[in-house]
Amino acid sequence: VLREGGAWFANQGVPNSGGTKCFSVSGHVNQPGNFEIPLGTPFSKLLALAGGVRNGHQLKAVIPGGCSMPVLPGEVMLATRMDYDSIAKAGSMLGSGAVIVMDETTCMVKALERLSRFYHMESCGQCTPCREGTGWLHRMIQRIIAGRGVQGDLEKLDDVASKIEGRTICAFGDAAAWPVRSFIKYFRDEFQYYIDNKQSLIKS
Ligand code: SF4
Repeated sequence: VLREGGAWFANQGVPNSGGTKCFSVSGHVNQPGNFEIPLGTPFSKLLALAGGVRNGHQLKAVIPGGCSMPVLPGEVMLATRMDYDSIAKAGSMLGSGAVIVMDETTCMVKALERLSRFYHMESCGQCTPCREGTGWLHRMIQRIIAGRGVQGDLEKLDDVASKIEGRTICAFGDAAAWPVRSFIKYFRDEFQYYIDNKQSLIKS
């Protein structure tokens, strides 16, 4: 940038998303790592740089910007470019650039339990919606996994998350709510199956 100038750097990307961004690709890929690419690069190209989905498996879902960002189905990501406007249009955000790739062996209920545990444990407790709500979310998902889910749990999860979102002092509250709402939005059948059958739809 010092040698070529700001305009040169901005031209590496696309309008509204100038320059490059480092993406840390993790999860079910052959070669996890950090990749600096021009903003606006197709997600499929970033996935290829990371060696593609691990051998013999299919892309199921991607969290494109760190675990607090909404998850997106794999087919949506494959049609999307890695820039701020494109990801927003697809329904998520680039956030930190931490791209988490999940293949078809991933149980989305268990994946969400792992995320919700993090937010429950890390809430500083200063504001009530986050302090109490993250615990509610985590315990409800734990209960579903334990085979004690009941009809109405998904509506209640979404309702609790919606009452955290936008009602806290810092962005941690939103970060706790968005994964819950997006996992249920896109993978509702998997959650409903777990409640109805007291076991995961994903056999592993
Ligand atoms: S939203 Fe932020 S300030 Fe409020 S309890 Fe959660 S972590 Fe603390």
